[in-house]
Amino acid sequence: MNIVLQCCALAMLVTLFLIFVREKNLDLHSRRLFFFALISCIICVSLDILSIIGINAAAAGNLPPFAAKLICKFYVASLTFQSYEAFLYAAGEFFEARKKRIFRTVYQIWTFGGMVLIFGLPIDYTLNGREVYSYGPATVVTYIVVLVLIVSTIIMAFRGNGYSTRQRRWAILLWQGSWLAAALIQLLAPSLLLVGFAAAFGMLIIYAELENPHEGIDRMTGQYTANALQSYVGDLYQHRRTFSSIHILVEYLTENVEMEAGKAAMLGIAEFLNRDRAAYVFRSADDGFVVIYRNRERMEAEYGRIRSGLQNAVSMPVRFRYIVMPDSSILDTADEYFRFHHYCIYEAEEKDELIVNRVTVAGMREYSDIKELIRTALDDGRVEVFYQPFYEVSTGRFSAAEALVRIRDLDGRVILPGVFVPIAEDNGLIIPLGMEIFRQVCVFLATGIPQKLGLNYVEVNLSVAQFERENPTEFAVRIMEENHVDPSLINFEITETANNSAKQVLLKNMNKLIDYGVHFSLDDFGTGRSNLDYFVDMPVSTIKFDYSFTQSYFQNMKAKDLLESMIDLMHKMGLKIVSEGVETLEQMRAMAALGVEFIQGFYFSQPLPQEEFLRFLQENNATSVVKERREHGGLRVSYTEGSAGVYGTGEMAVPGPSLDL
Ligand code: C2E
Ligand code: MG
Ligand code: MG
Repeated sequence: MNIVLQCCALAMLVTLFLIFVREKNLDLHSRRLFFFALISCIICVSLDILSIIGINAAAAGNLPPFAAKLICKFYVASLTFQSYEAFLYAAGEFFEARKKRIFRTVYQIWTFGGMVLIFGLPIDYTLNGREVYSYGPATVVTYIVVLVLIVSTIIMAFRGNGYSTRQRRWAILLWQGSWLAAALIQLLAPSLLLVGFAAAFGMLIIYAELENPHEGIDRMTGQYTANALQSYVGDLYQHRRTFSSIHILVEYLTENVEMEAGKAAMLGIAEFLNRDRAAYVFRSADDGFVVIYRNRERMEAEYGRIRSGLQNAVSMPVRFRYIVMPDSSILDTADEYFRFHHYCIYEAEEKDELIVNRVTVAGMREYSDIKELIRTALDDGRVEVFYQPFYEVSTGRFSAAEALVRIRDLDGRVILPGVFVPIAEDNGLIIPLGMEIFRQVCVFLATGIPQKLGLNYVEVNLSVAQFERENPTEFAVRIMEENHVDPSLINFEITETANNSAKQVLLKNMNKLIDYGVHFSLDDFGTGRSNLDYFVDMPVSTIKFDYSFTQSYFQNMKAKDLLESMIDLMHKMGLKIVSEGVETLEQMRAMAALGVEFIQGFYFSQPLPQEEFLRFLQENNATSVVKERREHGGLRVSYTEGSAGVYGTGEMAVPGPSLDL
């Protein structure tokens, strides 16, 4: 009997089946489709063998011919079914994603209609030595139905570009192509019964190329990779299957962890997490782990075990942080899931645990909205620079100012930097934003008008993130040169960074810029972001006392003493001082009496839009006004409510004589 090839095919398929069901795998939709294709292939090859046995038995008179014909019908019908399953495998994702279920129904009707015809129409068979084949109307129908399905499968694999990778397209082409070639050969040489073998061969190709789960397994820990996580979460959201997840962030508490020790710790964690068979454990892109449960109660029970036991699974000091999402349906898409986790890492900065609920999700959506706001503001030119004047005590003039960024929303309202700068710093948008701010400042200074009105320089805030990503010296120098701005007109404000390597980069860049001619100020002194050792190390020429530090002077005696000795010390070091956040006459007097060089605060002015700032300088820096102020003590300051976006004017009086200016 001519069944050797089919038996080999069956052996191959059964082996594949056993490997497939035994291996560690993710319950992915495509995997399930592959499983059905595999089963239908096994049935088809088995029926192929049975039909040959049946035909031989009928020829020997051991089986009634109608029984042999019936087996043949089952066999050809299974061929159409198998082609349909292959088609679904190639096109299933496409139908799901595009909601083109109607097409699937058409193919269903085509296949099952074909099968009905196969059973209704006559079939016959031939046995001539090694040549065995069936023929007749039922076989013709089979050929037509299968051919259409194979061609559709290939077209689907190639058409659904967005859904199919190059690897997937070629694997499917090879699978279906070898099948088609085998059918053709068999048609021309009926003794070569290749179809069953080609089908099994095709399944092997698909398994090796597309369904091999080991590709998604991290070699170091044996857990699923971050890529596998993407596929799995994508699959779950696409098919609206809910889940719970625990994202574990791992932070070594010792510096310079040895490779081997790090590896051992990762293995320890992986092993611990993997004890629960109901959990799918993944490595995450941030070098932590994500554990997914299909059952919420299970996750809740396991979470306690993980929190209490994980620390013992590693032999070095490690800090674990947890982002727990009890119900995945709180988010809409896999894309949102990953964006959300990125956001949580930023949001949960110092927290050990973050339970994802509607409030955190709302926060994330706001974060995304703000990111979008920054992008569109940059594109549409809605980034604006306001200027807040500094009062120079020794001259009685407003001789410097701080540039403070704002974004104007579509309704014309002003959005304060506290809302968007931290987010821009987090996601890198601070680079284009910082350039835009600096460009606007330089364009403003290039007009020469503020200088004519008595302005000596502008302070521009720089974020540490701006020093980390792009070479800041290049961008700053380029913008100054493009606008022919004298570097002595620029004073960059920096804040402290806890990160030592960032500090070294900062220092290097600062020195380059200082050589070029700009100066630096240390911002936010007294907030814990800028401390004593910092200004000793950093080549700054000015220290800015933060709002809270200035305010504390008036609130407790210790702070008062501290501030006084600080000022003394700083002056001895040749540093100038700007006192920020001065809101009242009393504060302004006290600061001036303490000997600070500059005073910045709402007492004099809020940050002003460019035009209003020029008007402010014009009104308050005119020689006659300064003279009058010095002689009679009457300072008229236009007052603008910039921050709320409501502009109004008011007047404030600064008494001169009592200040001893
Ligand atoms: P900062 O650099 O410490 O700026 C001083 C902040 O104090 C400004 O807030 C200013 O409006 C506010 N301020 C000034 N005087 C008073 C006062 O008398 N009372 C009170 N309560 N506040 C006063 P603003 O403009 O909202 O900026 C907040 C922070 O955003 C800035 O703090 C700075 O860290 C950041 N920022 C602002 N503009 C930029 C920028 O262009 N680039 C970067 N990287 N950061 C910026
Ligand atoms: Mg500042
Ligand atoms: Mg400040």
